[in-house]
Amino acid sequence: MNHILNYQNNALQEYFLNNGYKKFLANQVFDWIYQKRQYDLNNWHNISNEVKKFIKDNLSFEFITIQKKQTDKLTAKYLFKLVDDNYVEAVLMHHDYGLSVCISSQVGCNMGCKFCESGRLKKVRNLETYEMVEQILLIEQDIKKRIDSIVIMGIGEPFDNYDNVMNFIRIVNDPKGISIGARHITVSTCGLVPKIKQFMEEDLQVNLAISLHAPNNEIRNMIMPVNQAYSIDILIDTLKTYIARTNRRVTLEYVMLYNINDSIDCANELADLIRGMNVYVNLIPYNETSHIEFRKSPNIDAFYDQLKKRGINVTVRREFGSKIDAACGQLRSKEVDK
Ligand code: SAH
Repeated sequence: MNHILNYQNNALQEYFLNNGYKKFLANQVFDWIYQKRQYDLNNWHNISNEVKKFIKDNLSFEFITIQKKQTDKLTAKYLFKLVDDNYVEAVLMHHDYGLSVCISSQVGCNMGCKFCESGRLKKVRNLETYEMVEQILLIEQDIKKRIDSIVIMGIGEPFDNYDNVMNFIRIVNDPKGISIGARHITVSTCGLVPKIKQFMEEDLQVNLAISLHAPNNEIRNMIMPVNQAYSIDILIDTLKTYIARTNRRVTLEYVMLYNINDSIDCANELADLIRGMNVYVNLIPYNETSHIEFRKSPNIDAFYDQLKKRGINVTVRREFGSKIDAACGQLRSKEVDK
């Protein structure tokens, strides 16, 4: 049985039409779910009992649940239990510019980045669209507020679950759906080149972030196995095409790992690599985890200064929630380790 939250509005219209109902029913259903946030079908008073029965008999409307929530001043970390007892996480962050949520796209991840806790636990399965939608709906219900932006940067590689993630983005972006503007949505990938090419053909103004994390193949091969499939030169070429095609600026994420990628030489090499491109570099302080031997770099400021000196747009990501395991798969892996 397909889940009702897997449907975009037009797909739901078509579904109802094919089953002998008016397509307008989809708008009523969307209104109850996404505008009124009424998840008990029995309260949908403008919909007849016969139609309600059809929906109940034919579409699933199960919810994932909040298993655990950890908060500090600016961050709340949610551990969700899926219907099949798997776990994923999302993080709510209070920025000066509003509320953002970082959601997961897979249970585990197969990309195998050496420094990453999510990749320590292999992929179990892709998330369905509804499981991504519900991470948002449940957080909004929990905080009794609407969120302003979404990053798909939690557990998983979104471009390894491409179709469900695109479907999710369209539901989020739809004014009749969750209604968050495309410019407030960011999808982050470790660099699956064919999917980046596919993504540039989508008619979406969504932001693209790339986990670059190294200025050359030697270092990138060492920490990111994906680089053996799509090397850094191919990745950068693809991004140049992407930028030319979409006219959009790309974010390059660079996690600062002590003694691995944090030297001034690395900063210079990075500046050479991306010279003239419409990108900005986001330096990420590494969040140390107990399982992995990488250490946080103390050289972030010097690295930042060097990139600035070389004329590169660069920011340092604020650290959110490292005390509450709010980084990348740490809550889930604790739950799984139990
Ligand atoms: N698979 C996607 C999205 C999920 S990872 C991607 O690779 O972009 C989200 C980001 O967090 C990536 O840039 C990832 O490299 C980074 N990351 C993973 N573990 C981290 C850690 N312990 N500290 C800081 N950043 C980390």
